[in-house]
Amino acid sequence: MTSIFSKIIAGDIPSYKIYEDEKIYAFLDIHPIQLGHVLVVPKEEIGDILDMSDDSLSELMLIAKNIIAPAIKKATNCERVGFSVEGLGVKDHMHLHLIPLFQLGDLNPEKAHTETSENMKMIQDKIVSSLT
Ligand code: AMP
Repeated sequence: MTSIFSKIIAGDIPSYKIYEDEKIYAFLDIHPIQLGHVLVVPKEEIGDILDMSDDSLSELMLIAKNIIAPAIKKATNCERVGFSVEGLGVKDHMHLHLIPLFQLGDLNPEKAHTETSENMKMIQDKIVSSLT
């Protein structure tokens, strides 16, 4: 079975793409906890972070830390960027959540909501143009 994230990476399902290289794809979460919530996904379809090789996990974390999170911070002016791995919704393809944080409680999944396509496009453009 192909995971929903592999379908996004293949372009079969649309996404608000933020970043792509040979091994990693990042895009806006469709139900952001905060506007600017990004998912960073290894192209290799591995379900559980515990099954990732040290090299693949290191690579994913370094791209998240050095490239994507700073762009989120710049684009949203947040105080911190939260990193989380849960994986109870999409179990068959590991993903790292990067979430702009402004105050305590901003990682609460109960804050997940739908944004307008205008807001999603606006924050996509801001984050992409903040990538260095
Ligand atoms: P988790 O609960 O950690 O598995 O998170 C799965 C995340 O994937 C949720 O935050 C969903 O909103 C997100 N998600 C599911 N389908 C899509 C999609 N088609 N595009 C973007 N994000 C998605």
